[in-house]
Amino acid sequence: MTIPRAEHFIDNRFVPALGGLTIPVIDPSDGRVFAAIARGSADDVARAVAAARRAADGGAWSRLAPVERGRLLARLARAIEAKAEDLAALESRDCGKPMRQARADVAACARYFEFYAGACDKLHGQTIPYTPGYQVMTLYEPHGVTGHIIPWNYPLQIFGRSVGGALAAGNACVVKPAEDACLSLLGLAEIAAAEGFPPGAINIVTGYGHEAGQALAEARGIDHLSFTGSASTGTRVAQAAALRHVPVTLELGGKSPQIVFADADLERALPVIVNAIVQNAGQTCSAGSRLLVETGAYERVLAALAERFSALRAGPAAMDLDLGPLIRASQKARVEAFLQGLASQPGAGAWVRARGAIVPEAPGGGFYVAPVLVADADPAAPLCREEVFGPVLAAMPFGDEAEAVALANGTDYGLVAGVWTENGARALRLAKAVKSGQVFVNDYGAGGGVELPFGGVKASGYGREKGFEALYGFSVLKTVVIRYGV
Ligand code: NDP
Repeated sequence: MTIPRAEHFIDNRFVPALGGLTIPVIDPSDGRVFAAIARGSADDVARAVAAARRAADGGAWSRLAPVERGRLLARLARAIEAKAEDLAALESRDCGKPMRQARADVAACARYFEFYAGACDKLHGQTIPYTPGYQVMTLYEPHGVTGHIIPWNYPLQIFGRSVGGALAAGNACVVKPAEDACLSLLGLAEIAAAEGFPPGAINIVTGYGHEAGQALAEARGIDHLSFTGSASTGTRVAQAAALRHVPVTLELGGKSPQIVFADADLERALPVIVNAIVQNAGQTCSAGSRLLVETGAYERVLAALAERFSALRAGPAAMDLDLGPLIRASQKARVEAFLQGLASQPGAGAWVRARGAIVPEAPGGGFYVAPVLVADADPAAPLCREEVFGPVLAAMPFGDEAEAVALANGTDYGLVAGVWTENGARALRLAKAVKSGQVFVNDYGAGGGVELPFGGVKASGYGREKGFEALYGFSVLKTVVIRYGV
């Protein structure tokens, strides 16, 4: 697949930015510019929204029967699979993902379209018993035009989950990808057009968040917004939407705990715990970034994890190691600032227990951070409260179940939690007591599970994507009351 042109994708065509400006695209593996994208403005966003409106308000897209929509989504799923290697190579270069990760992302993207293909003709309402002489029914209707602000950590996966669900419910979509991760989505939109998606169903405007992103959040003609990213930007998006009473789904990341009891099956738990923080170099909203271990097993668990962390290798995406680089220089600086902050923690109890390595082949200009295991982390420290979004696992001991729950719930976030124990009753108690959108018992699925409703509580956001549940968020429930007399 060739690198897409520095243009937006609107009405099934590539078009240059109205302002004629572009933004350079940097390869995170070496820090060099290798492409460019269009720098979108409010005018470009308005143009994309107008195209989507035409598609949604009587255009070919809105006239498709649900079964036909489903067939198109299924065709797109197959086409993504057919172009998997090309899409993965593009995603790997653009985001610095090892090829294994990029391939998994492409497969998940295809799976979203496959899942939602089957759901298009199954979103039905109810009839409601009411007063004699009345017939009442509920209908699920599309919002119309949905806006999707997509981050840079999993562009293909989040496009599949968000746009896949919105299309299945019958909406036309306007997408603003992160300026650091647009290329695969432009390629995908072109594939969708070639597979027969009508003009205006899928539109992509690239550019900076504070320009094109903000413009999309404020755009007239958008009926629903789906945002994934930081809590602070999510707040801005929700504020802009509130001024026009536009509903929003917010997925704002987390500080997800892995809770390990002394009776846990460590052979099963440890590789999953490592993967949950190392996957995508820790740049995962549902990364298992806090490790809470029962005191009796604490030293044993940390010693075994230290061995695993020391063996991890970070390097260029093309080398397909355990980790690639982080997305950009500022993200690397952010992660390093958290690590430097450890030294000045209250009590100065935290220390780096183990660190992986950056391979010597890694170009000096790349944005590499070696994975780090921090022991005895202070639960009150920024490292344990804020989203680091890097390969840093903060471990701390707990004495009993009550303390485990208090620590798990002791941050502003609540996205995912993992509970590791062979005691079924305790697993259930924990699953109920932990405040988060998802809880895994004896497993952990950072980002996984297309079928599983996903979203947060507290600062992790609201609304649900993934699974069938997402279709309700991408629809409007209408109640129709018909009086026919008796
Ligand atoms: P942001 O939340 O700023 O970016 C997420 C998306 O929002 C991107 O598409 C971005 O575009 C867009 N955006 C930025 N500003 C605005 C705006 N004013 N209006 C509308 N859209 C906007 O995250 P950052 O990239 O700054 O990353 C900082 C931190 O956020 C990370 O370290 C991590 O903790 C968290 N994050 C969480 C993610 C998650 O999956 N939950 C994903 C990404 C980040 P652009 O990139 O072009 O600016």
